[in-house]
Amino acid sequence: MERQTLTKVQTRSSHSNVRRQFRRAQSAGHPLLNLQRSIGNQAVLRLMHSAFEPRYGGRQSWLDAARRGRIQRQPDTDSGTKYGLALAGSRNKYVAKAIELWTTQKSMKVEEFAETLMKAIKTDLLSQGVPDLNWNIKRGLGADGIFDSKKWLVEIDPDKFSEQKVITVADLTLPDVEGIVGTLYHESRHTDQDVLIIRALLDQKKTVEEIFQETEIPKPIIKAVAAKKFKTPLDDAQKEHAKRMFVVMYGEHKELLNFLMKNTQTVEGLKKLAGVGNAGDLKRAEPHVKKLAEWAKNVLEPKVKKLAAGKKLGPQETELRHDLGELSQVTPKLVAAFDIALKMKNPTKDALEDLQDRTNEWLEKLDAAYHHLEGEKDAYAVEGLVKQEFEKEATAKPKSKPVPAKKK
Ligand SMILES: [Zn+2]
Repeated sequence: MERQTLTKVQTRSSHSNVRRQFRRAQSAGHPLLNLQRSIGNQAVLRLMHSAFEPRYGGRQSWLDAARRGRIQRQPDTDSGTKYGLALAGSRNKYVAKAIELWTTQKSMKVEEFAETLMKAIKTDLLSQGVPDLNWNIKRGLGADGIFDSKKWLVEIDPDKFSEQKVITVADLTLPDVEGIVGTLYHESRHTDQDVLIIRALLDQKKTVEEIFQETEIPKPIIKAVAAKKFKTPLDDAQKEHAKRMFVVMYGEHKELLNFLMKNTQTVEGLKKLAGVGNAGDLKRAEPHVKKLAEWAKNVLEPKVKKLAAGKKLGPQETELRHDLGELSQVTPKLVAAFDIALKMKNPTKDALEDLQDRTNEWLEKLDAAYHHLEGEKDAYAVEGLVKQEFEKEATAKPKSKPVPAKKK
């Protein structure tokens, strides 16, 4: 199932986002990362989605940090990210709707639950100038959620709503429902982001045709954005935010997203090495490791060298140089551990455990690099807020009626 989806998202330059997530399992005494969500695109691949949610184990991530309140909870006003779905008014409306459904519609089918929430998001987005929002809620998609900018479509898989089989809202646990609420909002946020990018490109006097050539976002969407009279022009911070998103999604630093987008099956295959148990598993992973090794040699390493040679790197490029640098350091270690195990007729426990460790190390670096990409950083931040706000409401003690004073 996942394969079909992945194939679907693999189209050239499709700007989709798939989510994945680490789940914790125990293997050989150490946590094993089992990526349940796959990749997407472009920018988007939401490759790594709610990775690191606390319920799956205590790994650090900016999302966890946000939950613990260590980093600023509100989108930073200076970062240009305070627009559209990130605004408090939008979040509040959405969370209120989600709480209403969650508390009063227990017999509602989970598909309808998601459908209803997407409608609420659409109404909000349209009111803010996003030309359109379409979605497809379909079991068997294989990824929690995807935003495919080329099709301008959010895709959601109810099979990923829970680890249990769920039919109605009553079947969902609080973490499940938080995950859904967050996923729908995250994926929809990518439409906000693309509209901002289009506006920034239009401000640079690019034509609809040129923007289409660069992004492959459907022309009707670009045209609609061009025709729209927005109440306020983009401010400098928003232009900078749009620029930072553009370079990693469609521009000169799109290598990582490109790799994830075009090689969803490779990443799927590689993540399975975190639980590698025998020679058969190794055989199955062989083509994926080969693909990774080729990409590391032909794309990643030259990219890191180029970034390292770059003078006057800005903060975004400095971070990218760091993240890709780390990724390029752990990749050969993964490949080497794999080769050692593969050559053994009966791979030893030590060799397999070493490979598992190297795989986890690689996944962590990949995940960090992915989370740091501007569009994902922003989408996770917005998602994090909504989940936090939902949880707060959902767990709030019901307001009890004031106890009348006893009459004497
Ligand atoms: Zn995303």
